[in-house]
Amino acid sequence: MNAQGRVNQEYPVLTHLNFRSVMGREIDVHVFGYGEPTTMVIGGIHGNEPCGIDLAGGLIKEFKTHSAPYLESRVVVIPKANPDGFIAGTRVNARGVDINRNFPTKDFHRGTFTQNCNPGKLAASEPETNVILQMAAIFRPQFILSFHAELGCVNYDGPGVQIAQAIAAENGLPVRKDLGYATPGSLGTYFGVERNIPVITLELLSQDEQWTRHGKAILKAIRMSQSE
Ligand SMILES: [Zn+2]
Repeated sequence: MNAQGRVNQEYPVLTHLNFRSVMGREIDVHVFGYGEPTTMVIGGIHGNEPCGIDLAGGLIKEFKTHSAPYLESRVVVIPKANPDGFIAGTRVNARGVDINRNFPTKDFHRGTFTQNCNPGKLAASEPETNVILQMAAIFRPQFILSFHAELGCVNYDGPGVQIAQAIAAENGLPVRKDLGYATPGSLGTYFGVERNIPVITLELLSQDEQWTRHGKAILKAIRMSQSE
């Protein structure tokens, strides 16, 4: 303990867990801070949405340089959840599966899917999905923030409306409960709808300077979830 209360001066802590994508690329997980509750932040589930990877990178940089004022507890960051898709410039992973339709939800595989939203034959069949599931099983996040593009809104699942409104007040994007289409097998359905964890899907706009526009909003949301 120190003047910051629960904050330990030794953080940020970087833990490398050697998770791999389908093509064997590393999927880094950065763990900052200590103690409950845990916030989980995920960028790049869709490989062709690099602005989310940029924003997650901005958060990591912030924690590495100015972490003390923010971290009352643990923040787990997976900045590039689908590295094969990122390299290929595709939404899907190297097996053509949309990670954000591959979660083991009750509605997995229900509905009509385009090639771009292929859920895979089995729920949680993809290593990229399993990195997120395993980290969530270990750290039991009480708030999850996932970065996507290009809808330009703050979408939420589960009990996330207050955090969504707080984010919107900072970044100026509208809050949208529904995106106008079903997302069976999505991260938001799995953790938000089915497990009652507030999940924010922050839909970015690629023309923005991501950290400048969203940094304050993200830090505020993390602080809110830490104090609940
Ligand atoms: Zn996306």
